[in-house]
Amino acid sequence: LTILGIETSCDETAASVVLRDADGHGEILGDVVLSQLEEHSVYGGVVPEIAARAHVEALDTLIEEALARAGKTLKDIDAIAATSGPGLIGGLLVGLMTGKAIARSAGKPLYAVNHLEGHALTARLTDGLAFPYLMLLVSGGHTQLILVRGVGEYERWGTTIDDALGEAFDKTAKLLGLPYPGGPAVERAARSGNPDRFVFPRPLVGEARLDFSFSGLKTAVRQAAQSIEPVTEQDIADICASFQKAISRTLKDRIGRGLQRFKTEFSDLSCEPALVVAGGVAANQALRTTLQSLCDANGFRFIAPPLQLCTDNAAMIAWAGAERMAAGLPSDDLAVAPRSRWPLDATAQTLLGSGK
Ligand code: ATP
Ligand code: MG
Ligand code: FE
Repeated sequence: LTILGIETSCDETAASVVLRDADGHGEILGDVVLSQLEEHSVYGGVVPEIAARAHVEALDTLIEEALARAGKTLKDIDAIAATSGPGLIGGLLVGLMTGKAIARSAGKPLYAVNHLEGHALTARLTDGLAFPYLMLLVSGGHTQLILVRGVGEYERWGTTIDDALGEAFDKTAKLLGLPYPGGPAVERAARSGNPDRFVFPRPLVGEARLDFSFSGLKTAVRQAAQSIEPVTEQDIADICASFQKAISRTLKDRIGRGLQRFKTEFSDLSCEPALVVAGGVAANQALRTTLQSLCDANGFRFIAPPLQLCTDNAAMIAWAGAERMAAGLPSDDLAVAPRSRWPLDATAQTLLGSGK
């Protein structure tokens, strides 16, 4: 199967052509991503209206470029996969409408893909990972621990009850006067900081449920910063290092419980269990180190796909479309509407609910 994927749910405009062979092996034939980071950075966050306009301007060219790089034309494509949620509604409309238009004019099926499903299935494209496995999605908009049972079969084991982890990084950076996006800036500053100077809260640690909470952390950072006058560069470094340490400790507890639950639920698994990380925060080296050692200690394989496939991209959307098609799941009606909210574990029910 050769699938054209389109991604416009947030601030990346992306198009990609991906191949899935009969054995389930994947190959990215052409992949282009245009980040709108510069357009938004002056505002310190993503501005939905600007994002939608930027998607309109760039998408056609990106699709042509992805096809050209793959050495394919629309005739060679078996289906179109476009992100239809969750995300910013303006951007979703642009991508989904474009996908529909191409599907209609080229006479190809359309798959309206859940963006989170794209993240969830990426490890099968990059590493050929077998089901079931656990996935930790940590991005600017999501913090979720998801059990991936199969294509279209997802169980959300944990989610943030307030801020997403990337959001916590971004807000902390803002409080400290560091540039947007905050994640890389906080990580850089943390390198020369003392992680033991401040003891920031480790919310929900010790609790049996698998949820996350990061908003208290941001408040603690604000209080720490306000308690020092004037705040020096070293203070900022210490706060960032302490912030990352609190996150490491929290994740160690939360994810550690998730790994235990997985082992209990799949005690007869024939292969090594695996944890996959996805989302922009997966770029964070401290986080990777934490997850790697946690996996080592629990006998899990730790998979971190290459960074450009952890952040938003269209290859994962094309791949999710390919997986759906290969699994015999129905394509979507051209009347399908984008959804700003769309929990991943509702994907299967939605398909059933639509009567297909
Ligand atoms: P979503 O995909 O959930 O809709 P998004 O587009 O904001 O949200 P991504 O593009 O996957 O998510 O990731 C961006 C987030 O990753 C930002 O919050 C950013 O601060 C964070 N991030 C990027 N690099 C790092 C890093 N090195 N350390 C920590 N966080 C980082
Ligand atoms: Mg993004
Ligand atoms: Fe994403």
